[in-house]
Amino acid sequence: MLTLPHKVPFVDLAAQYSALASEIDEAISRVLREPNFILGREVELFEKEFAAFCGAEYAVGVDCGMSALELALRAYKIGCGDEVLTPANSFIASALAISHTGATPVLVDVDRLTYTIDVPGIQAAITPRTKAIMPVHLYGHPCDMDPIMKIAEQYGLIVIEDACQAHGAKYKGKRVGSLGHAAAFSFYPSKNLGAYGDGGIVVTSDRNVAESVKTLRNYGQREKYQHVVLGYNHRLDTLQAAVLRVKLSRLDTWNGARRHHAALYQRLLAGSEVVTPTEASYADSVWHLYVIRVVHRNALAKHLANLGIASGMHYPIPIHLQPAYQDLGYTRGDFPITEQHAEHIMSLPMYPELDPCSIEYVAETIQNFVPNTSDGHIRVESLSNVADGTGSL
Ligand SMILES: *Cc1c(COP(=O)(O)O)cnc(C)c1O
Repeated sequence: MLTLPHKVPFVDLAAQYSALASEIDEAISRVLREPNFILGREVELFEKEFAAFCGAEYAVGVDCGMSALELALRAYKIGCGDEVLTPANSFIASALAISHTGATPVLVDVDRLTYTIDVPGIQAAITPRTKAIMPVHLYGHPCDMDPIMKIAEQYGLIVIEDACQAHGAKYKGKRVGSLGHAAAFSFYPSKNLGAYGDGGIVVTSDRNVAESVKTLRNYGQREKYQHVVLGYNHRLDTLQAAVLRVKLSRLDTWNGARRHHAALYQRLLAGSEVVTPTEASYADSVWHLYVIRVVHRNALAKHLANLGIASGMHYPIPIHLQPAYQDLGYTRGDFPITEQHAEHIMSLPMYPELDPCSIEYVAETIQNFVPNTSDGHIRVESLSNVADGTGSL
């Protein structure tokens, strides 16, 4: 089959706006005409709608995902002297949110197949100072929450879900955001639900925690000029809330499109030298990212770029090897699966408006890729063994 070369971007936010332009414009001008830019009505309405979407009682809008994580931790009084467990492979914000409370992030390796936090690793990392677990529903795939909640109960730990990549994902039929004690979402523009700027939200069914986050996000005040705690300015803009309300009504449809794209990639990449992602039996992933593994990753990325295909790496440097986290005292070799993955993972274009022809073009380009090296075959075999040891991927 001959596919004409064309450009395939990694995400296409303009395509999404075109489809919604009149509704978005109307929502924005409604706010401009009101006008109540700070904690206006749209914020409250969006909070109610997003909590209901997640199957939780409360949601409190904030200025970004990292603030959502930090304020959720602070609402549970987590801070100096405490330890919080989180995976070594995530976006740096997961660990930073912990650090910014004064607590110490304690890293745990990831599961070979799902890329999410390794449950036996959690158990092994618990100390008398451990106060919370922050599992990350990475790439849109939920963590195995039942055993995580069981460990948390056993040791009296709080569980804060980092759901910043997983809006709408389900674990055993239940939405993420309703599984732990509280959860944090990001509305960074390229997330599954994205604002036109920064935004985030804390979701919980604990009334006191919701109240506490509300106070913390707004200078520590419950009533104007009465400051009960040392708060922040971490509020969600009314304009962003109005945009997010329009987009929330499309989220399930968009996630359905992503699922289709993932299935098509999976089918078209079968038999190639790449390891395609696994969806656990308990999971309904929302495919924030479509992450493959391949031995000659950097060569393939370059090859794709030459042919107009964008790709990404999530993430090329694990958290424990980042210069910013030198003080935690980890070294190379501490989290072998995370480290192996960091060298081989590659994210392919994924967004709802992606068309099947582009997916065919990407898959065909990967299928036809011949790495320029003599030991290619030997190394490819060793990667499949790394993948799961059974060849059942
Ligand atoms: C995007 C993201 C965050 C941070 O969200 P921001 O809105 O950028 O602050 C945190 N954790 C994960 C896993 C993310 O992907």
